Amino acid sequence: MLADVLPDCADHLADGTFAALWAQVQRVGGCSHPIRLAGFVDQVDRATGEIRRHVDSAGLPDGTILVPCGNRRASVCPSCSYLYAGDAWQIVHAGVAGGQDVPDTVARHPGLFVTVTAPSFWAVHSRRANHGPAQRCNDRHGRCPHGRPRGCRLVHPDHDPHLGAPLCVDCHDTAALVVWNRHAPRLWKRTIDLTYRQIAAHIGLPVLGYDRADGTHRIGLRDLIRISYIKVAEAQARGAIHFHGVLRLDAATEPGTWQPPPVWATADL
Ligand SMILES: [Zn+2]
Ligand SMILES: [Zn+2]
Ligand SMILES: [Zn+2]
Repeated sequence: MLADVLPDCADHLADGTFAALWAQVQRVGGCSHPIRLAGFVDQVDRATGEIRRHVDSAGLPDGTILVPCGNRRASVCPSCSYLYAGDAWQIVHAGVAGGQDVPDTVARHPGLFVTVTAPSFWAVHSRRANHGPAQRCNDRHGRCPHGRPRGCRLVHPDHDPHLGAPLCVDCHDTAALVVWNRHAPRLWKRTIDLTYRQIAAHIGLPVLGYDRADGTHRIGLRDLIRISYIKVAEAQARGAIHFHGVLRLDAATEPGTWQPPPVWATADL
């Protein structure tokens, strides 16, 4: 990789623009695939009406302004994904323990860590190691209708490219896997909605409050509690999305304020 960039660096050293290039590279935090913008930004002085050129890419190395790609995947951009992971950690930590304007009293609100996994779309090559030595991939016997073995006696190494691949591509329900991935975010939303409905049924309230004909208000669950959550989607080796989520019960206060929920609202609900 160094051999690829050295000739470019040599050119910039020769024409005296290396310092400016290095400043840009540092500003984008070492992004692997920065977006290259060309153009200018003018600023208008509102008091005098004077227009001043603020930035012009023409005066920068290669005539471009570099902007970080912001990709979250380490395989695409190690630097931007690292930055994102750090930001995400701060948000999750603030939600669980407080910080970043969130009071540390949220640590005492009922909370749950949940993992929501995809169903099976057919057996895939896998590495089974539950804190011990790795086991054989799949102990099933016999053959599928396409004549392929239902099991696999191998102990796959860690980075085996076969991991996640179906034992039979014809039995594997690839279409269902695609539909699952497409709709997984909606399923998560439905799960949260259903959680509200089940809690409401459990304590004998409607989910949403409403005004009765006589002008009084029938209180609803959403008048009392709020399920706050953050979720992270992870692609397993088999290509199926699953979610890790942190759910926290709050009182249904104004956004940006955090109060503990009523005492009956516990994680056991
Ligand atoms: Zn990047
Ligand atoms: Zn296998
Ligand atoms: Zn088959």
